Amino acid sequence: MALSQDIFAEARSRIDELPCAQYIGGRFIESTSTDIAEVVEPATGARLGTAPVGTAADVDAAVTAARAAQSSWSRLTPGTRFEILNRFADAIDAHSDLLAAFEALNVGKSFAVAASEIPLVSDGLRFMAGAARTAQAPAAGQYADGQVSYIRREPVGVVGAITPWNFPLLMASWKIAPILAAGNTLVLKPSELTPLSTLVLADLATGILPDGVLNIVVGDGAVVGEAISSHTHIDMVALTGSVRSGQLVANAAAATVKRVHLELGGKAPVVVFPDADLDHFAATITAAAYGNAGQDCGAATRVLCHADIQDQVVDVLAASATQLTSADAASGADFDLGPLISAAQRDRVAQMVDRARADGARVVVGGQVPDGPGFFYPATVLTDIAPGSEMAREEVFGPVISIEAFDTEAEALTRANDVEYGLAASVWTGDVGRALRFTEGLNFGSVWVNSHITFVAEMPWVGFGKSGYGRDNSVYALEDYTRTKHVMVGMGAMGTGD
Ligand code: NAD
Repeated sequence: MALSQDIFAEARSRIDELPCAQYIGGRFIESTSTDIAEVVEPATGARLGTAPVGTAADVDAAVTAARAAQSSWSRLTPGTRFEILNRFADAIDAHSDLLAAFEALNVGKSFAVAASEIPLVSDGLRFMAGAARTAQAPAAGQYADGQVSYIRREPVGVVGAITPWNFPLLMASWKIAPILAAGNTLVLKPSELTPLSTLVLADLATGILPDGVLNIVVGDGAVVGEAISSHTHIDMVALTGSVRSGQLVANAAAATVKRVHLELGGKAPVVVFPDADLDHFAATITAAAYGNAGQDCGAATRVLCHADIQDQVVDVLAASATQLTSADAASGADFDLGPLISAAQRDRVAQMVDRARADGARVVVGGQVPDGPGFFYPATVLTDIAPGSEMAREEVFGPVISIEAFDTEAEALTRANDVEYGLAASVWTGDVGRALRFTEGLNFGSVWVNSHITFVAEMPWVGFGKSGYGRDNSVYALEDYTRTKHVMVGMGAMGTGD
């Protein structure tokens, strides 16, 4: 308690000192616009800090800095970049409490939860820095007479990245780590709702990364995001965000034919059979559904259970939901369920629940906006979801579990796949054969068996369908941020003299 109170005070004073500026070329510089946006604490609705409302001219300045740095950064050996990125990771670890406090205040999650995310930020950098040392090994061979071929894995160049508000630092690191490790330089736009921690993260890299390697431009998606996506001198754009933003980014990128990397929304089915361990299921799904107040693209919020166990599943999930605690992160308390990020997001969730009710759903627990400050919404459990309805098919991005029943394995698979998203899914069963059949049939990029939401730096996080196609984490992300060049070398004739 004492530790987090001190650290919140330090975080607030750091925010007060933070220039209301863009981070370009290794320093803070004023935006070309004098407009300023308020950054809000979702637990209270109070002002946390201010941030610039960036412009296309700010993006131009960042691209110029990134271009100037790109050639020398790309020519460093992977081993040298490894050493530099590890020092950046060390700086993150050394400031982990401060960074966690920013995330707790700005996103509303508890300090303990935020603190558990920061090691993943630094670990991502360390993993990618190390992986790049092997991923770039050339393969050589002779495929034409007298000629040797080899492959150069080269950086794409200057990459633009656009990140969401739900895990500001973690999502930033999922871009920064592979993009820089592969030898690219970066222009990164954080969400306008949560820009401060990303600016501080970049500032921690000052003097460690060469100037211009990492640039942050804060501003609205429609202006800064659009300028990044359409920029002639940005070679590739990567977005983590909603399907709508992904479509806009891909459209804007089309004119310059730049490479596009998209990690978009999800609607994860959680399919549970009667032979599953229901206690383990309930504990895991409660955490995986309500963690980050359900604002997680892989959130376990759509439960499909066998009709024989529907009553039990409803009971255990409702019982767990009612035990969750809520608080303002700034109190230093440990709690389970924070607020939603904004009033607009809370209204969106509340309206979706109201529409589900109108479609015939029954609210077992929750479902009412509470009185009081902040953007809180209670842990909610819904049953009797009409197949094919909005609640069965659309991402809620809030603390709402919906439960549907099925009768056969085939029906469960058809219904699980009956969404346009394809990010994550889980299947709960004690039958290995069924688990294998199900994992084969599910159209989702991450599938867990008797588990949900755990991800690791070594394995890819990727969507199918409208969840996008860019790969985060793993060596596949490094591949995504490189281009392959074939070089063929004529060996000439063997000399006879010497
Ligand atoms: P969002 O799409 O509203 O915003 C994401 C980012 O895109 C923000 O920085 C925003 O400013 C920017 N943006 C908005 N319009 C843009 C435009 N026209 N051009 C360029 N950039 C634009 O998403 P959000 O509300 O911040 O985050 C929630 C969404 O992100 C959910 O759908 C969630 O599932 C998804 N998400 C996906 C993953 C994943 O790994 N697949 C991870 C986290 C969040």
